[in-house]
Amino acid sequence: MEKTIIAKKKFGQNFLKDKTVLSKIIQSMPNNNNHIVEIGPGLGDLTENLVKYKDTTAYEVDTDLIAVLKSKFAIDIENERFKLIHTDVLEAWEEKGSLHKSSYDLIANLPYYIATNIILRAFEDINCENIIVMIQREVAQKFAAKVNDKEYSSLSIITQLVSKEARILFDVPPESFDPPPKVVSSILFISKKKDVELDKGFLKFLKVCFSQPRKKLFKNLTALYNKEALSNIYNELNIKETLRPHEVDVSLYSQLYTKVKDGKQQS
Ligand code: SAM
Repeated sequence: MEKTIIAKKKFGQNFLKDKTVLSKIIQSMPNNNNHIVEIGPGLGDLTENLVKYKDTTAYEVDTDLIAVLKSKFAIDIENERFKLIHTDVLEAWEEKGSLHKSSYDLIANLPYYIATNIILRAFEDINCENIIVMIQREVAQKFAAKVNDKEYSSLSIITQLVSKEARILFDVPPESFDPPPKVVSSILFISKKKDVELDKGFLKFLKVCFSQPRKKLFKNLTALYNKEALSNIYNELNIKETLRPHEVDVSLYSQLYTKVKDGKQQS
């Protein structure tokens, strides 16, 4: 007999039970021939729907759930429609570089405690083409924000650099889960550009830019760069020193970065 599974907080377990939400996620799947990768299949409610449509690989860290999933999907595992990998997904990325050997779409109700890390890791995975994930609404808003939105952050800029499209598809209330999380969730859709490599230096630069998000960008940058040199760069690029980090678009951030980097190399 199946033993009763009690959701584990440490693994961010909130099981999605709402059938309407499950079918809306399936309807949002891109129409392509990509493989599906799911992170954290849990009790398999979303997995069951995914496997009906496409070959799926799922990464699950919790030993107790692995036992449940192996029994529930015995036939799909046997006929290779479903592959279940028992590991911490971040370790799998560390070891393999990619979660699948060919183009795949990541579809998942993510564990919220590592959701941002997982999405950033998926950005770097060259085989990952589309991302449809359930995460905390506040975090989803940061990924999808555009310049001048109050949620616009370094995550929004990184997302714009790597994606053709990034938007929130719909919100999901806590009652759709068992146990219900404390926050409202959103389904985030990101369609990635091909072959974009993120410059690690630029990511560090963005961290400095948004170190104090409500202060002026100029002030944040003086923590790292000489004030006078920075003033000259602002003049060259015709930027006002009063601008705040959320008021600067991606292209201007790229230009600023190129200038400060060149300036550092010369000095
Ligand atoms: N997909 C299921 C659903 O929609 O009901 C469960 C989603 S639950 C929010 C998150 C799942 O991710 C859990 O099954 C949890 O055990 C799993 N998980 C947590 N941390 C993980 C990690 N580092 N690697 C792989 N799976 C993880």
